[in-house]
Amino acid sequence: MAKINVGVLGATGMVGQNYVRLLAGHPWFNVTFVAASPRSAGRSYVEATAGRWQMESDIPKEVRDLVVVDANDPANAQGECDFVFSALEMDKQAVMDLEESYASAGIPVFSNASAHRWTDDVPMLIPEINADHLEIIPAQKKNRGWGKGFIVVKPNCSVQSYITPVHALREAGYPLSKMIITTLQAVSGAGYPGVPSLDLVDNIVPFIGGEEEKSEQEPKKIFGEISDGKVVNDESFKISAHCNRVQVVDGHTACVSLEFKDKKPSLDEIKNIWSAFKGEPQKLDLPMAPKQPIIYLDEPNRPQPRKDRDCDKAMAVTIGRLRECLVFDIRFVGLSHNTVRGAAGGGILNAELAHKKGLV
Ligand code: NAP
Repeated sequence: MAKINVGVLGATGMVGQNYVRLLAGHPWFNVTFVAASPRSAGRSYVEATAGRWQMESDIPKEVRDLVVVDANDPANAQGECDFVFSALEMDKQAVMDLEESYASAGIPVFSNASAHRWTDDVPMLIPEINADHLEIIPAQKKNRGWGKGFIVVKPNCSVQSYITPVHALREAGYPLSKMIITTLQAVSGAGYPGVPSLDLVDNIVPFIGGEEEKSEQEPKKIFGEISDGKVVNDESFKISAHCNRVQVVDGHTACVSLEFKDKKPSLDEIKNIWSAFKGEPQKLDLPMAPKQPIIYLDEPNRPQPRKDRDCDKAMAVTIGRLRECLVFDIRFVGLSHNTVRGAAGGGILNAELAHKKGLV
């Protein structure tokens, strides 16, 4: 099968570098187009990332000599790629407008940015949970008069550390009513160079701008339903979030307390539900999908970012410390890799799903 040519907007940044790394040798997709700010435009990818390549592996040889172009003009991508991954860090309105201009030019966009997460005809996907939300794409195209182009987004990186385990319980007949989450979020979540080291070494920063609101709202859209060409949020539960930046390079941890709406499963039943859970990516055997999306670890001191973030291509959610909660019903600790599952790997999984569904 001939590979599909893809582009990366924001290819020089932390998430963009992860796209370039993870797409090397991908069985379906081939990176042919890299774009970033006018500061990087006109230089080869190697030159544009000199001194700030953050990956542990070398720059893939097929991307090294690609010339970085200005991401602000979709005409640059015409004929160069079939769709783009968007990993831009810009003003929200600017990202919104730019992603729409790519879609309008017939280039589908799989975005990591938050700009379109609240646009009601744009699906916010975690393919294990709401793969069916892709069904909104024909309505999105019709609403905007777009031909081949469309926009799909993924949620905030910390949400993936707990939302799939919660979904598995809901799907098994145990809807929640309340959830309190405390996140311990890695430094790479702030991009490069990110949080100044003097703010973070020997320290915890108990504030990440906008993050608590995203954690409290985004699950409602992910669990929502499509009606009349829009995603209607599920408002049947409440979330309260505390988000903290900690001295971990990669891997967002979440400490979760959960109250169920009516009946409460036993701890053993919960572990069985999590171990047996499979979503659409596993059924379709998508290349980026973890074999087992939720991995429960019995050791009392797990999951830990350094030991567990890379589980199954860094795409699995690892869970531990499931126990009774003295205020709500249960509590547990979840962990996922923020720049892979929570960013580039999640974006690639979205595109793989869209490809299997015939959208790209
Ligand atoms: P980053 O490291 O700061 O990279 C930003 C990228 O955007 C760079 O390629 C940069 O190009 C480009 N850019 C900046 N200003 C631009 C402009 N005016 N025009 C065109 N391109 C411009 O940020 P990041 O951490 O990779 O995050 C990228 C996006 O993913 C953000 O929307 C972020 O919220 C989201 N996200 C990040 C994570 C994570 O864990 N880091 C997780 C989920 C989602 P130059 O190199 O040329 O400046």
